[in-house]
Amino acid sequence: MIVILKEGVTRTQIERVERRLIDLGFKTHPIYGEIKTVIGAIGDKRNVNRNAILLMEGVEEIVPIMLPYKLASKELYKKPTLVDIGDDIQIGGTQLVVMAGPCAIEGESEFIEVAYKIKESGAQILRGGAYNPRSSPYSFQGLEVEGLKILDMARRETGLRIVTEVVDPRDVETVDRYVDIIQIGARNMQNFRLLKEVGNGKKPVLLKRGLAATITEWLMAAEYIMNEGNENVILCERGIRTYETATRNTMDISAVPAIKEMSHLPIIADPSHATGHAKYVPSMAKAAIAAGADGLIIEVHQDPPHAMSDGEQSLRPNDFISLMHELSKIAQAVGRSI
Ligand code: PEP
Ligand code: MN
Repeated sequence: MIVILKEGVTRTQIERVERRLIDLGFKTHPIYGEIKTVIGAIGDKRNVNRNAILLMEGVEEIVPIMLPYKLASKELYKKPTLVDIGDDIQIGGTQLVVMAGPCAIEGESEFIEVAYKIKESGAQILRGGAYNPRSSPYSFQGLEVEGLKILDMARRETGLRIVTEVVDPRDVETVDRYVDIIQIGARNMQNFRLLKEVGNGKKPVLLKRGLAATITEWLMAAEYIMNEGNENVILCERGIRTYETATRNTMDISAVPAIKEMSHLPIIADPSHATGHAKYVPSMAKAAIAAGADGLIIEVHQDPPHAMSDGEQSLRPNDFISLMHELSKIAQAVGRSI
């Protein structure tokens, strides 16, 4: 529920209300607005006497949050959330944020080479899998800690920020030490132990939509992370499973405006996993930006036919650089910059 406080409420009154809510078993989320302060209170309100809070000094009203997702909903946070990546990048603002790089880190020299191309394109964040969740146990699974060290090196050499996926709760602490954004992949969107583990930290989390997840289920996954205290969640539409086989998945462009309506969290799009074909990536990247996405994550590999994973959907570095130029026109048309 949302406890709305009166205009001019004092700091002591706010603290008293918050303390009462905590004593009643709620987790509290105070939001200090320009005019009004509200406290989001998340917990079981069935056995709570409403008047125990309503009649406290400084309290104006109590409004229930009807949606199953509370912290991720716009009922609680009306303004769009801006997720800070360090002190110079914000996801969710006018400036679009592009993440790019190979599906998997295959070796040091190849990765550093592609990292410089990503830098040249104007993208801000470098991607590369160190722990790759593959559909087959016989496929390349990633370089693990060695991969994280290569990511770190690329970060120091190019100044790009880093995003990588974590697949096991036991690796969260290690991955957290190396990266700027922790990715939760589609296959793990409902791995609740993993969600809680990244929720315990402070690192921004890129939460991909599950292979067959509804938007509400996806927001409930975000809620798991936020409920642990980490509200730096960035959603990523990466296509969902449908009956269509011409593309790897079906990119749900309408998820972008739907998320903007339902949540304050930023959303980016992944046209690479969504289509599975490099030739379709530019069109879908443009469509996502036109629909209002806050950024993109795109797979780029210097030699796609020989990539150890997801070569068919990876752009060559120069094609990615051309796409970035084209995207800037779309961005401009919708009042954004790239
Ligand atoms: C990836 O980003 O390489 C990946 C495995 O993505 P997804 O979880 O969306 O399939
Ligand atoms: Mn991939």
